[in-house]
Amino acid sequence: MSRSRLDLDLTTPEPIPEAGITRAVELMRSGRLFRYGELHADQLEASKLEAEFAAYLGARYCVALNSGGAAMFVALKCAGVEPGVKVLVNAFTLAPVPGAVAHAGGETVWVESTEDCVIDLGDLRRKAESSGASVLLLSHMRGHIVDLEAVSLLCKDLGVTLIEDCAHTLGASWDGTPTGRFGALGCFSAQTFKHINAGEGGLLITDDETYAAKAILYSGSYMLFEQHQARPDVQLIQQFAPQIPNFSLRMSALAAAILRPQLALLEQRGLIWNKRYAQLAQLLGRVAGIRIPIRNPKEHFVASSIQFSLNLESAEIEAVVAACEARGVHIKWFGREQPKAFTGTYEHWKYVRNEYALERTAAVLRQLCDLRIPLEISREQVALIVQIISEELAALPNRGAPVT
Ligand SMILES: *Cc1c(COP(=O)(O)O)cnc(C)c1O
Repeated sequence: MSRSRLDLDLTTPEPIPEAGITRAVELMRSGRLFRYGELHADQLEASKLEAEFAAYLGARYCVALNSGGAAMFVALKCAGVEPGVKVLVNAFTLAPVPGAVAHAGGETVWVESTEDCVIDLGDLRRKAESSGASVLLLSHMRGHIVDLEAVSLLCKDLGVTLIEDCAHTLGASWDGTPTGRFGALGCFSAQTFKHINAGEGGLLITDDETYAAKAILYSGSYMLFEQHQARPDVQLIQQFAPQIPNFSLRMSALAAAILRPQLALLEQRGLIWNKRYAQLAQLLGRVAGIRIPIRNPKEHFVASSIQFSLNLESAEIEAVVAACEARGVHIKWFGREQPKAFTGTYEHWKYVRNEYALERTAAVLRQLCDLRIPLEISREQVALIVQIISEELAALPNRGAPVT
């Protein structure tokens, strides 16, 4: 057996476009890094980004924040979450999601996730009815998009406010409508491993003027909210100002400056990611023991990563993941007892009181693996990754020859 090794760091982020670097340097020379000016609007990077982001998604309002987690926290506050309020969340998600619920004082109610990595709609109805939750924070985890029309109808029927966590779905849509546009509020992240990269950053969109006014105030606008472009009437914001605390969660001008030129790159990035995803899915799907989640034809996803499950015992998965790692293929595995890096799961977040057994999600996560797809990966490197994985699967005791 060849012992070829992948010579590519799968965690390599996307670089900042030159236009963003130039603008960032200008801003640093001027020192004007705060998003507002005191006497006048000094520079408008964050306000311009908000207007451009809202236009990109067809939303009326947008507020820039310092992280995706902050965007979800503010969205939950806008939706009336306070101590005692229950918030439905699909159990396959990332730590900042239940973290945002806890931050707002709410109580997470887990809903089962399916083998296709989306929320289980039957369980959603059951949990909504049994818990009395008033909000669903729906996480399009790793870019998997559930039937959003069905979810919207269900939420309407149940009297539940829908908030979308679109950290991995910027550029993606369901049946032609962008994610983030089905919910009353949509939240996006600009953390380095998402589709636009400012290190840290978050964006919240909504069409509701009351939510927009409150979100601007929660973000920490002092009395400078007039400088926002994608905002409701100043009088409306003014009206809420005395009651809304300033949580100081603003995006800095610097982050906005490096994000703005990335919006124009989203389409191109999506095409590249999806091309590599298609190749990976096709090759991995042929390997015995590997299952790729099935995607609905109405789901226009942006695949910056791929998920697959290994139909093996935990000890075998651990061995395969370790052997692949030694050959340069960094696989995240959600079935670890002790989480590593980004593989924490609902079972590890003990601050959430979990009243329900999540048998389906537990079974899915035990076998679920994830590979990041860096933009710079080549066809040959994709083929090599699949070769390494299938060789390491075949090397397990009692396994057949690798499928090529
Ligand atoms: C990254 C991410 C977030 C938000 O993360 P921040 O680091 O706070 O920007 C939210 N949900 C999911 C599923 C994510 O992957």
